[in-house]
Amino acid sequence: MKRGIVNYLPGFPEISRRMFAAIAVLILGMVTALAFTPTPELTDERVDVVEILQLPSGQPLDQGHEIYVREERIAQGEQLDHLLVRLGVTDNEARRYVLRAPETQILHRQLVPGRMVDARVHADGSLVSLYFPLNGGENGMLIERRNGRLTARETARQYETRLMMKSGEIRHSLFGATDSLGIPDGIAIQLAEVFSGDIDFHRDLRQGDRFSLVYEMRYLHGKPANAGRILAAEFVNAGKTYQAFYFAHKDGTGGYYNARGEHLKKAFLRSPLAFSRVTSGFSLRLHPILGTWREHKGIDYGAPTGTPVRATGNGVVQFIGNRGGYGNLILLTHRGNYQTAYAHLSRFAASLKQGSRVSQGDTIGYVGRTGWATGPHLHYEFRVQGRAVNPLSIAMPNNIPLTKAQKADFEQESAPLQTRIALLKEMHIAHFE
Ligand SMILES: [Zn+2]
Repeated sequence: MKRGIVNYLPGFPEISRRMFAAIAVLILGMVTALAFTPTPELTDERVDVVEILQLPSGQPLDQGHEIYVREERIAQGEQLDHLLVRLGVTDNEARRYVLRAPETQILHRQLVPGRMVDARVHADGSLVSLYFPLNGGENGMLIERRNGRLTARETARQYETRLMMKSGEIRHSLFGATDSLGIPDGIAIQLAEVFSGDIDFHRDLRQGDRFSLVYEMRYLHGKPANAGRILAAEFVNAGKTYQAFYFAHKDGTGGYYNARGEHLKKAFLRSPLAFSRVTSGFSLRLHPILGTWREHKGIDYGAPTGTPVRATGNGVVQFIGNRGGYGNLILLTHRGNYQTAYAHLSRFAASLKQGSRVSQGDTIGYVGRTGWATGPHLHYEFRVQGRAVNPLSIAMPNNIPLTKAQKADFEQESAPLQTRIALLKEMHIAHFE
């Protein structure tokens, strides 16, 4: 093990973890204070803030109006009238309206067990509003009392998008750091994906690596509902700083660029395994049969049998089948005299055959222990003109430059994000150094 591996340090003292958690909480406190700064310029089309309800279910919203929020899941075979009772709607006018009005008849056919319906009611049970999800759940019916009259209309779910700003340091694993900061797994995995052309999150992480993040979090009635997108990120890996800013193109697509406006997508991913909780807990090991690194000419990724293996670059399948010590092997050829090999697979992706074209990130097979392997792992080789090389030693070609007009837009849009990242970094340094 030549590189510093911090994905898995079994002997890491518990006291340090606790100290780290304490520091993280401190920082989190400071960061949370910043997390809710309104930023119309960053969240324009995504934010659909209709209301912000900060209090947990069943609590009065404010003393003057005493509005209570109630959420209930539709039960198996439940009738609408019964559901209204459970939601605390005892207002007869509202019940008649919900049950009998022509515009609300659709609700009788939408009583899908498990769906969450929420109501806001006054302390006396009179209805303020009722939100009932329809079909797939992204749309729903909003019933409200406005100027004393009950109305119903179909509307999108009323999520509120908040920008979260967080910063952390890696002590024993990426998930260890993100967990202690309350960062959702989806965002931790996005972070690894954003930098997947530059950093192999299975092998390259070092103790002391730092990151700062600006990401969206969708809230429903004041409670976190799901993670949105990372808008800006910085990762300091082994002393080298990488930055990423999301840039939405006019055609609806988007991508991540560094501060100079260069696309982060590279011709090759650093790792043939996607970063996940499952793969993050496995340590790098030397080849179990051949023994030494020098003879080995590849990289082994320990991972459970069945873990998906992805093509690290666009290419064509040159070989797929069983080959001696390699076991089940896939060999891809890529433009520019590059080849990648994936060995010991338990099985191949369905319908993949010699001559098939694959795109970067496609699942081509699954981790196994076929051939000369004492345990499940992926043996990965990167070859240039037929010779195995360490992919980390090669400068990977960059592609897809921005046009002049796009670059101007990018500079304007990324400026506030760059300021935030710089701010987070300063706070971070102030706490750790
Ligand atoms: Zn190997």
